[in-house]
Amino acid sequence: MSRLPKQRAPRVLVIAPHPDDEVLATGGVIQEHLRKGHVVKVLLVTCGDGQRRGLLLPSRHFLRLGERRYHESLKALQILGVHEKRLITLGYPDRSLMRLWSDSSKPHTSPYTKACTVPYEWAYRPGAPYTHEALLADLKEIFTKEHPQVIYLPHPRDRHGDHHAVYLFTRAALHESKLHPQLRHYLIHYGAWPLPAGKCSDKPLLPPRSLRQGTHWVIHELRPEQLERKCQAIHCYRSQMHYIEDHLFSYARRNELFDLQPSASLTVPTRLIRLPRLLIGLRRGQSSVLSRE
Ligand SMILES: [Zn+2]
Repeated sequence: MSRLPKQRAPRVLVIAPHPDDEVLATGGVIQEHLRKGHVVKVLLVTCGDGQRRGLLLPSRHFLRLGERRYHESLKALQILGVHEKRLITLGYPDRSLMRLWSDSSKPHTSPYTKACTVPYEWAYRPGAPYTHEALLADLKEIFTKEHPQVIYLPHPRDRHGDHHAVYLFTRAALHESKLHPQLRHYLIHYGAWPLPAGKCSDKPLLPPRSLRQGTHWVIHELRPEQLERKCQAIHCYRSQMHYIEDHLFSYARRNELFDLQPSASLTVPTRLIRLPRLLIGLRRGQSSVLSRE
């Protein structure tokens, strides 16, 4: 008697430039994927080991900060149900990823940790040089090995350089690997968006008005228990609380928001489209995308 071939569970990869982006952007939808039996892995590109206000502090301060923020992500993801083995940390330099994207001539030295190679022994490739080629090679290797059907990644219009660079590196690595997962782009840094700042979990998260043309936003509506866990997970980022607590909790809303087809070249919109036409419900168990997997 022959056995039916065992079907491989759908694989999902969340790519976060810094520890906390993964929970702010996808803390709810991660739980939904896990509820459906999908395999969820999280890829941290940096450990968040830079802090503009502390540039004069010694390098060991920033190395400790990177380690602390990595552990904050581990704890937050455990609350959501992601095992620590499913967190992949690259350890490239915080606040320097656009440099890596645009300058491939020599290894970059972090102005914070003073490192020019990955300094963390628990990282994916300790000692990897801080170069364009090394980061691209790591991403290609991970994508080829993991073969995710869905990737969550930063939106190309995100105004933080690291976020934009992670978008560019991801697209380049996918192109070179000849892989075509579905891409769901999330937005974190876009002026004062989202307003109002702070926790207002009864309010929806809506796309900025200037990003409503040439885009294809979808939502995941959080169940009450998913929102509760997401808030618990946000509390794990204690190193960020006294700087940007309101910003962190601005993402604890009724829904999460993803753009399936962002327009990277979008300029000032000439026409605003009414929001309900933009949103496709990725509601409880109705995800039109995941049902195809
Ligand atoms: Zn970030």
